[in-house]
Amino acid sequence: MADRAVQAAAIRRRIRIPLRLADGYSTTATVVSFTGLTDAQQHVALELGRPGTVRPPLVRLHSECLTGDVFGSQRCDCGPQLREAVERITDRGGYLLYLRQEGRGIGLYDKLDAYALQDRGLDTYDANLALGHRADERDYTSAAQMLHALGANRIALLSNNPDKVAQLGRLGITIARQVPTALHLTETNAAYLATKARGGHDLLLRSLDRAAGPAGPAGPAGPGASQASGQRNQADGRCRPAHPRPVADCARPASRPGPQVPPDPGDSATHCGSC
Ligand SMILES: [Zn+2]
Repeated sequence: MADRAVQAAAIRRRIRIPLRLADGYSTTATVVSFTGLTDAQQHVALELGRPGTVRPPLVRLHSECLTGDVFGSQRCDCGPQLREAVERITDRGGYLLYLRQEGRGIGLYDKLDAYALQDRGLDTYDANLALGHRADERDYTSAAQMLHALGANRIALLSNNPDKVAQLGRLGITIARQVPTALHLTETNAAYLATKARGGHDLLLRSLDRAAGPAGPAGPAGPGASQASGQRNQADGRCRPAHPRPVADCARPASRPGPQVPPDPGDSATHCGSC
């Protein structure tokens, strides 16, 4: 039962667009625009595969990241996450919601300002706070409106982010299943991912533990131990994955699937949002 009613949105237009991604992967999306979205942003849904034939459809909420999605920034994992989502949703059938909330909702310029603070030692969350923002300002009301308009009230959610599960649940979307994303770990984004894992992305934390292994930088087994160790490594600038993967490899989820352990009951899941 939703905690609050969601204002109805309606489908405005559906347009088919053939896609060819940077690595040559191709698919066809039906891009859907909407009217009545509460934040009046021009969010779009990409219908991929044949979502009408599967229950529940696979859904990804991807927050816009100009630097990562378009230019291949190595400071975050947004580009590889987007690439992974397009292929996995095409295979299963579902929707990729591309949400115009750059930088966890603080906007592009402030995200770049936050990067400057990160270069002086702050982590991604503390940098947002220093700029007068909340650590994560994303609101998924429009996403829920889009899903309702698409008739996707019960979904499998591709994500490691518990906040997405919680917000969508309150907005009347049933998360039938949470599907973890693959781990897109490189030396460049290792500190960013460690911070994100500490920020509550439990499934990401497990993936990082797994990548580090018993002899890796995480030290003794156990999420708590790894978490504490990861903080130390980041502070020392020595956060090194045991087996860093180039982003190009990360773009092929089949080569190394994400966590295989299904989420615990009550373990909310989801994605690792944008930077
Ligand atoms: Zn990003």
